[in-house]
Amino acid sequence: MFDKTLAELAKGLDAGDYSSVELTQAYLTRINAEDSRYNSFISVTAEQALIQAKAADTRRATGGAGPFTGLPIAHKDIFCTEGVRTSCGSKMLDNFIAPYNATVVEKFNAAGAVCLGKTNMDEFAMGSSNENSFYGPVRNPWNTDCVPGGSSGGSAAAVAARLTPAATGTDTGGSIRQPAALCGITGIKPTYGRVSRFGMIAFASSLDQGGPMARSAEDAAMMLNVMAGFDPKDSTSLEHAVPDYCADLSQPLQGLKIGLPKEYFCADLNPAIAASVQAAIKEYEALGATTQEISLPNTALAVPAYYIIAPSEASSNLSRFDGVRYGHRCADPVDLEDMYKRSRGEGFGSEVKRRIMVGTYALSEGFYDAYYKKAQQIRRLIRQDFIDALKQVDVIMGPTTPHPAFKIGEKTSNPIDMYMEDIFTLSLNLAGLPGMSIPCGTTEGLPIGLQIIGNYFAEAKLLNVAHQFQQATDWHLQAPANVCTGNNSQGES
Ligand code: GLN
Repeated sequence: MFDKTLAELAKGLDAGDYSSVELTQAYLTRINAEDSRYNSFISVTAEQALIQAKAADTRRATGGAGPFTGLPIAHKDIFCTEGVRTSCGSKMLDNFIAPYNATVVEKFNAAGAVCLGKTNMDEFAMGSSNENSFYGPVRNPWNTDCVPGGSSGGSAAAVAARLTPAATGTDTGGSIRQPAALCGITGIKPTYGRVSRFGMIAFASSLDQGGPMARSAEDAAMMLNVMAGFDPKDSTSLEHAVPDYCADLSQPLQGLKIGLPKEYFCADLNPAIAASVQAAIKEYEALGATTQEISLPNTALAVPAYYIIAPSEASSNLSRFDGVRYGHRCADPVDLEDMYKRSRGEGFGSEVKRRIMVGTYALSEGFYDAYYKKAQQIRRLIRQDFIDALKQVDVIMGPTTPHPAFKIGEKTSNPIDMYMEDIFTLSLNLAGLPGMSIPCGTTEGLPIGLQIIGNYFAEAKLLNVAHQFQQATDWHLQAPANVCTGNNSQGES
């Protein structure tokens, strides 16, 4: 049962092979038994999950079911969930019970989904390894000595370990795609403005975007059908028609033009990743696609530009956590300033403090033009690189990450080393474009991700391109060696 995709589980529910209550209970039991190895959940909401599952079963029995009714998922702990702790991976919000639901959560609830719990993440979504969580690091199910990627590392690890069939994530600079790559799952970051940010705790508002993390492109399409759409509660949400993302999955790829950015196949790229990505591209050629080399000349500037813009926005967004209205408040403050200082000093971890300091510095008078304005100019150039390239080709492909999952602790002492892991993912957020990561190989027992980049609102195309690959190959079906999928000994159906 645990190896089934959302699409397969939906068929099982339709056929009456199991009820949503049985399915939900099975996953809850599994999380309880297995998650101490991965630490992928911050909160497991068993009671609410079973209530939702029961309601879903009733809805099915009375004929009101939709494609998602009764399917279990998990939410990254950055999405506000009414009545449930929403910590954002931070001590600052360890005591925060959200009084309302994020729009994404509302939409899944309305679709009849069952929320198993809230997944672990880097504090305020800042990180590439999930080592910055107040709740401790998440471990990669493929090798528990390694990181799962970040910041949606809990969601990625939970899906890879078959503790949930799918989960939500958010991507400010790669946090859906990078952990998807490192954990061997499928993730898509939609176009900026495609999925509502309302109730999604803000890191860098001009870059943040929620999206699906699942086992297949088909499942990601099912999730995006629920998540996408205009939201009047989010001022940057876009009024753009939402297609049925499942409708065109089977379109043939004959004549698809793939651009290969020469800057992505650079000396720093791990050779096994380069080889797997090249092999995936050969597979696309066999499916009828053609390839051509393109150039994204400002790729190397993405890391410096992002690491000015994201911390600048974060320094502003995180000023709301001051101990006054909600979140952590220090004990016995002597005056207001003491309360601000100690509440923030105690509530935030070191990476968050680093970002606040960098951002505050970059926005300060006298430095603004040299740093923030310059970074915004570079952002514009990066966006233009993609616009020019996407005039020549339909999609762009390359590696999601320069390296496979690294060891826990390996990069924590050097933030620049850590930031360089985002080299291939950041520029899409700066440009606002959609991007996806799908499994395309393994090296030394660790998964490799292929990144697929498309034009604005080309999510359906990306999902089609990914689905066709997954029909022809079985990388996405591989499970970590020591993860029991329930197909063998336990007699589950
Ligand atoms: N790794 C990047 C960072 O630390 C991106 C994080 C994200 O996408 N949330 O900022």
